Amino acid sequence: HLKSVRNSPTVDELHEWDRLHNLKPWSMMNTWREEDGQIIDRGDGIYMWDSHGRRMIDGPGGMWCVQIGHGRREMADAISDQVMRLAYSSPFSTGTEPAAILARRLAEFAPGDLNTVFFTTGGSTAVDTALRAMHFLNNRRGMPDKKIVISRERAYHGSTYLSATVSGKERNRTRFDKENRLVHFLPDVDPYRRPEGMSIEAFCDQKVDDLEQAILELGPENVGAFIAEPILCSGGVIVPPPGYHKRTLEICRKHDVLYISDEVVTGFGRLGHWFASEPVFDIVPDMITCAKGLTSGYLPLGACIISDRVMEQMTGPEEVLFSNGYTYSAHPVSCAAALKNIEIMERENVLGHVREVAPYFQERLRSFEKFPIVGDLRGMGLLGCIEGKVTEGRSSLALDSDFGTRLDTICEENGLLLRPLINMAVFSPPLIISKAQIDAMFDIIEDALEQVSSEMEVDG
Ligand code: PLP
Repeated sequence: HLKSVRNSPTVDELHEWDRLHNLKPWSMMNTWREEDGQIIDRGDGIYMWDSHGRRMIDGPGGMWCVQIGHGRREMADAISDQVMRLAYSSPFSTGTEPAAILARRLAEFAPGDLNTVFFTTGGSTAVDTALRAMHFLNNRRGMPDKKIVISRERAYHGSTYLSATVSGKERNRTRFDKENRLVHFLPDVDPYRRPEGMSIEAFCDQKVDDLEQAILELGPENVGAFIAEPILCSGGVIVPPPGYHKRTLEICRKHDVLYISDEVVTGFGRLGHWFASEPVFDIVPDMITCAKGLTSGYLPLGACIISDRVMEQMTGPEEVLFSNGYTYSAHPVSCAAALKNIEIMERENVLGHVREVAPYFQERLRSFEKFPIVGDLRGMGLLGCIEGKVTEGRSSLALDSDFGTRLDTICEENGLLLRPLINMAVFSPPLIISKAQIDAMFDIIEDALEQVSSEMEVDG
């Protein structure tokens, strides 16, 4: 397929150029030029084809984002129409039709009084914007010390200086700097890792208490915000115990701490709703950040949605600039892509479809309990994670990674792309996946688990 384009490089050349010149996110710096990665050539529905013509189910849905599937002609048309009508206009001084309509739609989808939308270029910049808005707010309120952000171990919020600072994935061994004085991390909220013999309810009490104790120890006058993914996705699809979200929100309110719900993954249908905060977790936060599924990954776009209550406090009689923003804030072509994405999701009732097939998806996932090599199975909506228990008690990164890597390699050979995360495999397929395709996906994983089980030693 690639060769059919005149003067294009050969497949081998492409792989070589990609290996030598294209430094990818999260590259392992000792081996990055040696690793011959995949080059994806095209996509259609839930499938992608690599440069060798091999078809694979897109298990991660791109990067938790390709909600409506690949290769939608309507998306291409909407994008090209907007390019021809208006490709760009400065968001600093002008609005555009797609941006105004999209802002209105997001205010409609967001819970409670979250009615103001600040468009960004992706998830990291949405998180940056939320945190900078908190800085702005507390400076305006005459509380310049109220800036510490409480986050959690294994959280992921992005890759700018500020959003990386509040990310807590401890195994991302890194030589980057972080602004550690700005952040405080709460211990792991993963029920799978709760102390032996502790009930889920007691674990929830403990996790809620962790937050309150941290606020009290740091001093509420120094704590600006609590930032939380409803489900810690990149950290391994960690679903906090039931009731945790509502109770942590109440504690934030009690101590005048803003609650930022990072819905970059859980938003736009992953859990069967536009946003999960209210319908799934019963919270109306102060801000919601979103990106990814907003355009189904067809173009980059993010948003920080802010409550009226916070906006009122950020606005006043004096002239003060909210000097935050990007050249590509509210990019009209990205906004047009988001509007078409929403139109498709509404027309095809994608949210209803997710709510319908999710129980089956979770049931098939949980059926892997029968494999002794599996430590935990968790997820919600069309999010899932398999955690291996090969090295429990031995803490060997190499062996842990081996489980994820082997599972990934076997699945890939059999036509399923997964996302290995050390000893875990996470998946979040396009939301349009049918029941039969869910079966195809889990059949491949089941065969792979059988094979890995026969090859690896299970510890304890
Ligand atoms: N927040 C969450 C919860 C995420 O999962 C991610 C990315 O995976 C981000 C923020 C950062 O988004 P982006 O990569 O679009 O900057």
